[in-house]
Amino acid sequence: MSSSTLSATAMSESFVDQRERWLLAPYAMFSRDSAGRRRPEPSHAYRGPFQRDRDRILHSSAYRRLSGKMQVFTGEMGDYHRTRLTHTQEVATIARTIGRVLRLNEDLIEALALMHDIGHPPYGHCGEDALAEVMEPFGGFSHNRFALTIVEEMEYRYHRQPGLNLTAEVLAGQADRTDKSNAARPSLLEVQLVDAADSTAYDAHDTDDAIKLGLVTLEQLQQVPLIARCVESVRESYADLSERFLNKAVVHHLVNLQVTDMIEYCARELEQRQFASADAAMQSDFRIGPSPELAEQKRELERFLFQNVYRHPRLISVRQLAHEKIQTLWRIYVEDPSRLPKKYQLRAERIGVQQMAAHYIAGMTDRFFEDTHRLMVQSR
Ligand code: MG
Repeated sequence: MSSSTLSATAMSESFVDQRERWLLAPYAMFSRDSAGRRRPEPSHAYRGPFQRDRDRILHSSAYRRLSGKMQVFTGEMGDYHRTRLTHTQEVATIARTIGRVLRLNEDLIEALALMHDIGHPPYGHCGEDALAEVMEPFGGFSHNRFALTIVEEMEYRYHRQPGLNLTAEVLAGQADRTDKSNAARPSLLEVQLVDAADSTAYDAHDTDDAIKLGLVTLEQLQQVPLIARCVESVRESYADLSERFLNKAVVHHLVNLQVTDMIEYCARELEQRQFASADAAMQSDFRIGPSPELAEQKRELERFLFQNVYRHPRLISVRQLAHEKIQTLWRIYVEDPSRLPKKYQLRAERIGVQQMAAHYIAGMTDRFFEDTHRLMVQSR
């Protein structure tokens, strides 16, 4: 190889690789080390592979439908609270903030965050439980696994082949979520971070929504030491806050406290451990998350939310009804597959009508589900 070819090679480092070389820590996942896509594609001039994955997810119809899916609280309860789309954006923002300080790959983080909940059926976890129950003899149902089915089989971006043709790392990251019970399965730090940011976001926003909807008061919440600590800090900073602003300030503080704790704890650990590569970090026993002290305080808050919010009578009654309706609609399709839309009838022949019915329902927004259920039950 002549010297002119060598310098040409050095010069040809892509914009993305150069930028990552400047910005990322050695333990981050670099685009240049990606295992690539199932169907190879030429690289893009200025968008790296994970950025392209992020964009593909952002432009998918499953992603847009997140705006019509509940997080914890349904549409009848007003429109202040989070939907699954705004939850997803909060997770992405929190994860990117932390990822930037820890010098991880923000494009990969964002792709994983935008994807993490796209497999959620209507009516949140209740929808998932209803489908998992009827699907038990047919391979079960998990929203995390369904997210992979969506991006690999159900979204159409290319006219000849189904799926978004995402990178191996984004697909593996979502697969890690599906198989959380397997602690031995190592995940990239970016994957671990999105999981930790998910918990940061919902602990804070479920607290906020629950206060706003009047399911609990800030006073009751102060039984939880973490919330008491937030109230105390806010009162120290602002002596004359009205109740309304106190609630807001406490929730902001709850996000900030969790994010700061995670950054400080992880930065300290990463500094000590000096991982030389993404793989070394993955294979170690280090996990991105809150400090052990804050993790314990978060568990106390989650226990409180579980008892007093997620199992609140106003939510339980909505859930029971949704549970029944979802199973009814599933049975209608299974008994008569010709009631499925044409394109899904073909897929049902291939994957079985039970799975197809579950997939079709899982893709619906809450409102589309309600309309379809009403129509199908009336015309039965
Ligand atoms: Mg989530």
